[in-house]
Amino acid sequence: MENCIFCKIAAGEIASAKVYEDEEIVIFKDIEPKAKIHLLCVPKEHFATVAELDEGRAALLGRALQKIGALRDALGLSEGFRLVVNQGENAGQTVHHLHIHILGGEPLAW
Ligand code: AMP
Ligand code: ZN
Repeated sequence: MENCIFCKIAAGEIASAKVYEDEEIVIFKDIEPKAKIHLLCVPKEHFATVAELDEGRAALLGRALQKIGALRDALGLSEGFRLVVNQGENAGQTVHHLHIHILGGEPLAW
């Protein structure tokens, strides 16, 4: 996808503070952290919202969640964390490439 900042980060064309990468996802630090730990888990495949999930993408997101769970302690999230996936205008989604916010490292206000 042209001009998609997360596609460019996933492809290594734009620098990011990556903490994990495999063939289908990348996890990097949010540039404007809203908690002590604020990471973004981004599937390398470009799609914007869960309205675009097919079986393959649904399975991909399942594996992304599984990976976040497996990395929990290594990422400093053993005391708990929050996952947020903003969808569309009312949620304030600014990057239209699906991403999972991972927030933690401190008690979080709702
Ligand atoms: P959302 O509002 O859910 O679309 O979240 C987009 C997130 O991407 C925001 O929290 C931004 O701070 C973050 N962001 C935007 N550009 C970058 C970047 N180049 N590197 C890391 N995080 C970014
Ligand atoms: Zn993209």
